[in-house]
Amino acid sequence: MTTTQSRAIEVRELHKSFGQNEVLKGIDFHVDNGQVVCVIGPSGSGKSTLLRCVNRLEEPTSGRILVEGIDITDPETDLDAVRSRIGMVFQQFNLFPHMSVLKNLTIAQKRVKKRSTAEAVEIARRNLAKVGLANREDAYPAHLSGGQQQRVAIARALSMDPDMMLFDEPTSALDPELVGDVLAVMKDLASEGMTMMVVTHEMGFAREVGDKLVFMDGGVIVEEGDPREVLGNPQHERTQAFLSKVL
Ligand code: ADP
Ligand code: MG
Repeated sequence: MTTTQSRAIEVRELHKSFGQNEVLKGIDFHVDNGQVVCVIGPSGSGKSTLLRCVNRLEEPTSGRILVEGIDITDPETDLDAVRSRIGMVFQQFNLFPHMSVLKNLTIAQKRVKKRSTAEAVEIARRNLAKVGLANREDAYPAHLSGGQQQRVAIARALSMDPDMMLFDEPTSALDPELVGDVLAVMKDLASEGMTMMVVTHEMGFAREVGDKLVFMDGGVIVEEGDPREVLGNPQHERTQAFLSKVL
């Protein structure tokens, strides 16, 4: 398998229904290597479903999804291998509550990557330092702020050496004063060239860090383009209506 593809993620004609409810109605879009693509849109528009289809937490009803050129909708594809290249960060941090921060960062490295404890700890410490939590490795999640927990979740994902990171409203559960620290970590990641797909309501982040902004509504991409263009001069009436409520 090669990692030299310029397309990190390519989605073609993606449809997803839950029973009779068609949630994604033909999505075409892509993320190039090193790009930061932000996805915005009203609640229920299908943003999380799209993100979850990309690492097959949801099974598409039809359409194709290529990750680094590998068709993850093909039943022959080794999904675990593809998933191991994708880091995922959720709104609810999903840390293991009964494990220390360090253990949260080492367990999957040892189980999935088959790393020794010493190696896993070294990588974990490097990533904790990166998110500004070098001194909290012995803490339990309940003793950390939401912002710290989310940074631990990011460090945990990074410890698996992903080629790309998917974020689903990573700051939406946080008290406002904690949002900035998490966004700063994400901004650093972006400037290091990490490929990122970020569902967010943080328009400042999208404007400043995003290479592309995608506006979804009702299971379709209504508008996409340069974030400054889309935010400053939205072409579609539905984009204008949404932005007038959130900006
Ligand atoms: P968003 O993230 O933009 O708020 P979602 O992708 O979470 O939107 O949801 C889009 C629609 O899909 C909603 O109507 C939601 O109720 C529905 N939906 C999402 N997940 C499921 C599921 N597992 N089963 C049934 N319906 C779902
Ligand atoms: Mg969502």
